[in-house]
Amino acid sequence: MARTRIDNIVFELTQACNQCCRFCYNYWRDGSTPLPPPDPSLAGRTLRKLLSQASVGTLSFSGGEPMLLRNVHDLVLSARFKGSRVNVLTNGTLLSEAALENFISLGVGAVQIPLLSADAKVHEYLTGLPGSWQKAADALGRVASLMPKGAYAVLVVTAVNAPGIPETLKLIRSLGVRGVMVNRFNIGGMGLLHCKELILDPSTLKGAFADVEEFAAANTDMHFVSGVCTPLCLMDPKPYPHIQFTWCSTDFSRRPVTVNYGGDVRFCNHSPYVLGNIYERPIGDILSDPAVVQRYAGVPERCADCSFLSKCNGGCRAASEQVYGTFSHADPVLEVL
Ligand code: SF4
Ligand code: SF4
Ligand code: SF4
Repeated sequence: MARTRIDNIVFELTQACNQCCRFCYNYWRDGSTPLPPPDPSLAGRTLRKLLSQASVGTLSFSGGEPMLLRNVHDLVLSARFKGSRVNVLTNGTLLSEAALENFISLGVGAVQIPLLSADAKVHEYLTGLPGSWQKAADALGRVASLMPKGAYAVLVVTAVNAPGIPETLKLIRSLGVRGVMVNRFNIGGMGLLHCKELILDPSTLKGAFADVEEFAAANTDMHFVSGVCTPLCLMDPKPYPHIQFTWCSTDFSRRPVTVNYGGDVRFCNHSPYVLGNIYERPIGDILSDPAVVQRYAGVPERCADCSFLSKCNGGCRAASEQVYGTFSHADPVLEVL
């Protein structure tokens, strides 16, 4: 069977996590249900199945918390053996020195770890885990020293930590990290429960990005990427030329198609809607199914005549799926403010 080429897949190794971030976008984190424990053998079986159906450029191991899987290194090896690049998205609290060294010897390309504030209390208020700030900072520093080009700090910007952005960036830099993902709070999962507290009003959002821009302009050896599509009618990226803004697309070559450890396929990691399961149909058939293509063809009413539509795409419409149950609605951030 010919394998379908897919550039980027987020592979969710588990739903479980040792943190309970107030902003966690995972759709299954609604604060009510106990999470299923990790299932390493199912995750391994599903990854092998996926790699038999698809040739994947980059696999990002995510969750939940991927370091909860005792066989995470075997999974990396399977992916590397099939020719995929592998990135690991972890909260850093369980990333021991030995685990990191194993990742490096297996050729992991990048490790992303959230560091939300220079103030431990703010970071731990947001993650819900006492002691997590020191562990995340230590892990980031270790990654930066052992794989300088692959160390990424993730700064999820919320109304709670926005005031401390300059100090947070100074700390990130002092750890040796040169890559920073600056992601605005995106509504979904636990973030739905805490939306009022975390959401950035337009002026705080722009002020936060202005702080990042100022720091980025003064530290041109660093690289800043904004990875969550923000409606252009909410924020114009032009005043922030030192931040790279990325835009997703309904074309699956330009978005992180997501597969979980049980084989469920979704539009991206923020989307709650299951398109199909790779144990029932190959992933190529699922993604090219006319019903799936049709589901993502709708244009939000407010965007129909907008000249920015081809770029902006209505903002993050996986967030619309979480809030309104449909992709045919513009980013909910435009309405909750
Ligand atoms: S955001 Fe990441 S670290 Fe935080 S609870 Fe969700 S999966 Fe865990
Ligand atoms: S496409 Fe929609 S969300 Fe984007 S700028 Fe236009 S109206 Fe706003
Ligand atoms: S829909 Fe939202 S979460 Fe999904 S890829 Fe696009 S911006 Fe990212």
